[in-house]
Amino acid sequence: MLRVISSLKENGKQLKLSSYKIRTKDDNFVFLDTYGIPLKNNEGIYAILNIAKDITFLKNINLKLQVSENKLDKICESIPLGFHLYSLKPDRKLVFIGSNIAANEILKVDCSKFIGMTIEEAFPPLMKTDVPQKYKEIAKNGGIWKWDQIDYNDKIIKGAYEVIAFQISKNEMVASFRDITQLFKDREKLQGSEEKLIKLNKRLEETILKQTREFNESEKLYKSFFDDSPIAIIIMEMNLQFLITNVAFNKAFGYLEDDIIGKNIKEFCFYSPQSFDTFIKSIQVLKEKLIPLSFEAEIYKKDNTLANVLVRMNIISLKNLKLIELMLQDITELKESEENFKIITEQSFMGTLIIQNEKILYINKAVSDINEYSIEVMLNWSKHRFFQNIHPEDRAIAMDRFEKRMKDSLKVYDPYLYRFISKSGNIKWINIYSKTIQYHGKKAILITLIDYTDKNLAEEELKKSEEKYRRLFESSKDGIAMTDLEGNFIDANKAFLDMLDFNKDNLKQINFNQIISTDINIFDMSIQNNEIFIKNYFQEFENVLTKKNGDTIPVNIKIWIKTDIDNNISGFWSIIRDITQKKKEEKLREEFRQSLEEEVSKRTQQLQESIERQNLYQAEIIKVSKFKSQFLATMSHELRTPLNAIIGFTELLLEETFGPLNKEQNEYLLDIKTSAEHQYDMISNILNITQLESGQIILNKQKFSLKTILDQINSTLKPMYTKKKLLFLIKGLDEDIEIYADPIRFKEILLNLLTNAIKFTIDGEIYLTIKEYFDKWMFKVKDTGIGIAHKDFNLIFKDFTRIDSTYVRSTPGTGLGLSLTKRLIELHNGTITFSSVLGVGSTFTLFLPKKSKKLDVII
Ligand code: ADP
Repeated sequence: MLRVISSLKENGKQLKLSSYKIRTKDDNFVFLDTYGIPLKNNEGIYAILNIAKDITFLKNINLKLQVSENKLDKICESIPLGFHLYSLKPDRKLVFIGSNIAANEILKVDCSKFIGMTIEEAFPPLMKTDVPQKYKEIAKNGGIWKWDQIDYNDKIIKGAYEVIAFQISKNEMVASFRDITQLFKDREKLQGSEEKLIKLNKRLEETILKQTREFNESEKLYKSFFDDSPIAIIIMEMNLQFLITNVAFNKAFGYLEDDIIGKNIKEFCFYSPQSFDTFIKSIQVLKEKLIPLSFEAEIYKKDNTLANVLVRMNIISLKNLKLIELMLQDITELKESEENFKIITEQSFMGTLIIQNEKILYINKAVSDINEYSIEVMLNWSKHRFFQNIHPEDRAIAMDRFEKRMKDSLKVYDPYLYRFISKSGNIKWINIYSKTIQYHGKKAILITLIDYTDKNLAEEELKKSEEKYRRLFESSKDGIAMTDLEGNFIDANKAFLDMLDFNKDNLKQINFNQIISTDINIFDMSIQNNEIFIKNYFQEFENVLTKKNGDTIPVNIKIWIKTDIDNNISGFWSIIRDITQKKKEEKLREEFRQSLEEEVSKRTQQLQESIERQNLYQAEIIKVSKFKSQFLATMSHELRTPLNAIIGFTELLLEETFGPLNKEQNEYLLDIKTSAEHQYDMISNILNITQLESGQIILNKQKFSLKTILDQINSTLKPMYTKKKLLFLIKGLDEDIEIYADPIRFKEILLNLLTNAIKFTIDGEIYLTIKEYFDKWMFKVKDTGIGIAHKDFNLIFKDFTRIDSTYVRSTPGTGLGLSLTKRLIELHNGTITFSSVLGVGSTFTLFLPKKSKKLDVII
């Protein structure tokens, strides 16, 4: 005060206003601006007139602004987003004016050194991009610009950054950014691993296809054999469950697939009880020894008749499964009339006998005439005893042919000449003819014998037979060899010699045991184990033989006994078949199976690993995105509160409640108000979207009157459309209706669409049409505005995206309205679509379900 007085004295007037903080009576403070006018008389100043103006209110606003600015500063300094502040100078240069701490940390340089530089000087690589231009536009015109990735490298600062640039006040803008190098790398990694996976997948598919093709070839062979075979085949699993039968089986035995497939033989058994026992025993042997087996069985057909069947069993490998293959051959021939048969045969000069189950069941007098034994004696004979009548040299053939006849592998009419030895030791030449017949419901062999002992006749027949035998022996494709009891070779056919590269002379010097790759003497084994005695037939096994040059070949060997005239074992017959091809196929199948298994397990592991990697990346991305949403939600909220105060107080000032404003003051306050409102809108939208994303928005659905809401909407929009001289019409709402939705959100949706329509229409009209469907409401907002180009259709629902056109730039907006609207509609289980023609207008159509079927969920 003293200073004021002395200045008044000196200058004769007060040069500027003085401000005072004065304590009032009630202990509060007021702020005053004072101006002193000197009152003078002749003696000079005799008093001072003091005019005081209460400026407490203005001071308070300033204080509040200060507080909110401090808050903003604090946020800026503590968030993990880098901020660069720029100012657009009148010469159109964009000058760096400041940054926050996070900016230094993200870029790893002290950004304060850029202060005062133009953007091009501070960040030279940006010169090549349109970034400076974009920033300048934002600083000047406002708006928001988001870039997913700016690759930057000036040797000191390097990396990929996500940037959001926005205006903070006229000619000032902020570029906020975060480092997404790692995110980007992760994304690339993810992409890389995906590509690898696709490639791998393709390769694997190709291999599998190729191998499946190869496998199919060999499987096809088996399948055609299976389907076309005249022999009935059944495939069973190792646990004796029926897996599949072929057509021949179904035809021969009358069973349908449904009768049998999927059942276990224990619950569905077509064997007679006795045959079932044999079957179970044979299965055990098959599983232990893994060699093919055969046995005769009685099988009930579907019509309950009994059939005699030869069952051959084998274990086959299909893919990686082991299965049992049963081949059933009906060996029953037509039943003949026993009576007729007896009448004829008893008078016949032809010897006739019937052998069934290894026993002689019927024999006539003519046989007794030939071998001099009585019928009674012979009826107690077994089959083997009967064969002892045959000369030892002919016996093996006779037995082989008998077995073949049993299996129906002899021609129907194929007689053979043998030497028989009679009770008194005479040799008789007997022509034998055999045939399978049905005897007492079971298969039997009928043998007829004709005495050919008349020398000439016999010799001629013998010659013929020997020739035939020789021819057979020599022309057989299988190797046939004859050895003595120790295994020394006596004779062998050409096929056998060719197979091993021997000639007849070398053969005489070697023993069968020398060329077979087993330590056991196979002939000893054959005698000990074997069914040769029991069945008087052959033993069959697979082994490997060594050729003359040392190479080996896999073979299937059948051995049976050769006896001499006194029925002593004198040696062995062997039939050897080259199974190289079969082995190769088996090996191939095994190899393929193994490689497939390996490939599949390798691939499964790779897949597992890559899934784990993907899960990790995904978890990381989800974490980052959640953090972002939560951070933005909190930040937006914090930013919105001080803005409310700014807008509120600015409005109060503008209404001149606290005194008149001059032109400049009015203009600046309007600027503050528009910028703050723009910022408020943007922050509200961000807050809404992030709350939606982080699942914080829950709909509060209820019934409400549509008309009431539309009235509210109309009064909000009225100033906007009247100012632009546009017509706004609501169609289709003749009477009030009730809608079930969240009223606040519903209002927000319609307001967004209608504000856009008004904003982007220069002249013409805006229609809101309401229509009711069976289960939904339709709301259509149609305008005659600037329209949207087809190429921009995919942009408009994206966050922060506005269409790049002069008109759009001239309107305020954040590019968030439609994306928020769409999310809110979807939260209501509704849909939104639009159509638009550039320069003609746009129509946005939204459908809301009348009542959602689902419970309202938190998204
Ligand atoms: P904002 O209106 O804040 O720019 P929106 O998300 O609401 O953001 O809209 C995105 C953009 O879609 C707008 O910037 C504008 O380019 C375009 N758009 C929206 N509605 C219309 C309309 N009715 N006519 C023409 N363009 C529109």
